[in-house]
Amino acid sequence: QGGIRFENVHFAYDPARPILKGVSFEVPAGKTVAVVGPSGAGKSTISRLIFRFYEPQSGRILIDGQNIADVTQVSLRQQVGMVPQDTVLFNDTIAYNIRYGRWDATDEEVEEAARLAQIDSFIRMVPGGYKAQVGERGLKLSGGEKQRVAIARTILKAPPILMLDEATSALDSFTEREIQSALELVVKDRTTLVIAHRLSTIINADEILVLDAGQIVERGRHEQLLAAG
Ligand code: ADP
Ligand code: ADP
Repeated sequence: QGGIRFENVHFAYDPARPILKGVSFEVPAGKTVAVVGPSGAGKSTISRLIFRFYEPQSGRILIDGQNIADVTQVSLRQQVGMVPQDTVLFNDTIAYNIRYGRWDATDEEVEEAARLAQIDSFIRMVPGGYKAQVGERGLKLSGGEKQRVAIARTILKAPPILMLDEATSALDSFTEREIQSALELVVKDRTTLVIAHRLSTIINADEILVLDAGQIVERGRHEQLLAAG
């Protein structure tokens, strides 16, 4: 049950334009750390580096004490789960979408995950229930409903480390609050890195890092940062 550690990470997509300029932080096992900052600060780049879509030019990224340069993407995917910004579901059944990546899960486990994600009562009202098709030719789900299906999938998969990439930003504020309460259940006791635009969307982080132009310019707890403006 590991943590995440960035050690003086430098990264640029284009050598002429550094994006991360020596970023160091730690998400201790079981804790939640959030990264906030303006658009273009490099927040999503941090999550892409964690999945090894890109390699840092210098510095190290450790997960569970192991340099991820030595870990395959496949095993990273098992360790690290992500609730993305915009959830794209497969044109298949709701159950398929929840079970995705945990094919051995029983129907009961799928339903329990849906219950924790607070989407089960909705699913029961839909003709066909868990067997209803979603997507183009089937059921059209709202942004919030899709997000909850994605959360149910993550609950079922139970990766030791979780990344939430502005998981609620595409939603209206009512839906956002509802999703947040579902996410709190997921995040509890799990190593979590939250990537967010706004302080207001962050749930119970143990530490918040303010990233600006590729550097951590401030860190603290919610109250401290709000007080500092
Ligand atoms: P944030 O998530 O904080 O909005 P990003 O990490 O997405 O920021 O982007 C940081 C900077 O890197 C931005 O200036 C963005 O334009 C640039 N960038 C992001 N992805 C790429 C890419 N694939 N190639 C080149 N530049 C990129
Ligand atoms: P996200 O996956 O976080 O939604 P994107 O990767 O689509 O973000 O893009 C993040 C930012 O990086 C955007 O501002 C986008 O315009 C910019 N960006 C993405 N790809 C490139 C690229 N190849 N070159 C320059 N900027 C890019």
